[in-house]
Amino acid sequence: MKTAILGAGVSGLALARYLVEGGLAMDDVTLFEAAPFAGGLCESKTVDGFTYDTSGGHILFSKDAEAMQWMKDRAGGDAAFVKRDRNTKIRFDERWVHYPFENGLGDLPEEVNFDCLKGYVEAWHERKMNGTEAPGDFARWIRWRFGDGIADHFMDPYNEKIWKRPLEEITSGWVAGRVPDAPIEDVLRASIGIRTQGYTHQAIFYYPKKGGFQAITDGLAVDLADRIRLSTPVESVVKNGDGWRVNGEEFDSVINTIAMNLLPDIVEGIPDGVAEAMRGLAYNSITTILLALDREEHPNLSWVYFPQRKQGPANRITYMSNYSPGNAPTGKTSFLCEVTNRPDEKCEAGIVDEVVAGMEVAGLVRKDEILFSDTSWHRFAYIVYDHELESRRETSIAWCEDAGILPLGRFGHYDYFNSDQCVIAAREAAMTLLARAVRG
Ligand SMILES: Cc1cc2nc3c(=O)[nH]c(=O)nc-3n(C[C@H](O)[C@H](O)[C@H](O)COP(=O)(O)OP(=O)(O)OC[C@H]3O[C@@H](n4cnc5c(N)ncnc54)[C@H](O)[C@@H]3O)c2cc1C
Repeated sequence: MKTAILGAGVSGLALARYLVEGGLAMDDVTLFEAAPFAGGLCESKTVDGFTYDTSGGHILFSKDAEAMQWMKDRAGGDAAFVKRDRNTKIRFDERWVHYPFENGLGDLPEEVNFDCLKGYVEAWHERKMNGTEAPGDFARWIRWRFGDGIADHFMDPYNEKIWKRPLEEITSGWVAGRVPDAPIEDVLRASIGIRTQGYTHQAIFYYPKKGGFQAITDGLAVDLADRIRLSTPVESVVKNGDGWRVNGEEFDSVINTIAMNLLPDIVEGIPDGVAEAMRGLAYNSITTILLALDREEHPNLSWVYFPQRKQGPANRITYMSNYSPGNAPTGKTSFLCEVTNRPDEKCEAGIVDEVVAGMEVAGLVRKDEILFSDTSWHRFAYIVYDHELESRRETSIAWCEDAGILPLGRFGHYDYFNSDQCVIAAREAAMTLLARAVRG
């Protein structure tokens, strides 16, 4: 079964590895990759001894222990990884606030703590007494769930930085299970200064000792090297009897991991309505800025959130040099700033200055310690759950499946997946494809 995989990010690579490990002949698998390297959003870059993850700091963690071990084993095994405790904070004025925010109210200035607690209790009371239903848009949902204080001081300004659009345009459905949900007793305790733990998911994570997160996709790619066509964008996919022609070459099956938004320009015969649905799937892009520092140590933190407007456009920084000592030369450190952009828009030239100015206001860096900065950009970074996303997604996936193109991956299937979930989906897809190959 000659199989074409479109895109060699972690989804495409994991699928190819599972197919080959499941018995498909190596020569029957071909990956097409537009970039000159494999890895996609898992890319890492090293500049003058400083390594960073170009789409934002990545950690390895999974609820599926088997999938996580599978990833580690293909990238050098346990010995090639460092194990870290997740220690995340929110920066508010000159303070470190416990994460999640509602478990950190006691760390806030007193008046802000009061506003947040008052709003939280009022919102809780309103839900209990009047049984008000969860509103359908994110802006109203935030106030319904957390109250006005947390909305004004944290949720609204933070989410505006991430989503770059009015929060009314985003649905509340996607937050279920993503935004931590603390019991009111914990919030009351936190507010008067009794420490409550809150969110325990990803309490421990793993990170490659060397090479950044891309060491994982490099490990997946190594045995497939001859089968990955780098710098080879897929330009045409045309139905050919029971199979397909990809860039003019014949295949029995096609699996797509590239963003569905791009398919109407690549796949022949997509009806207008479906093409419109695909093109309109909402997403945001990301710009990341590494600050390489002449400084020996950082606080013992993994990453930090920045909700305040005065802290500049970055919504999060990751202490890359805390992730692994291999990420910075001895005696030096670094952190990586993340800025989201409207779809397809790159940041303006002055973005580095704006980000650095914000970090100075937040008290995280002094200009004279910055050795250099390095900037990266990824077009498809965040899925945006606007009110049309679900229907566009359903239409797009249904057409692909009917046509016989298997959609897979973060933007190939439009799922808010981390890399481990991409691997789990690839494992399932491989089982389906291998069963199909057996049936001939
Ligand atoms: C800010 C941020 C933080 C994240 N943090 C984490 C984390 O901590 N841990 C974690 O596990 N995951 C994290 N993720 C998610 C993770 O990066 C993705 O889930 C994963 O990398 C997606 O892999 P993919 O293969 O599905 O897609 P992609 O990586 O997007 O791969 C698609 C590939 O298709 C290629 N392509 C595009 N167009 C064409 C074309 N025409 N022809 C051929 N090839 C083409 C691209 O170059 C790319 O290589 C994070 C993501 C972001 C944005």
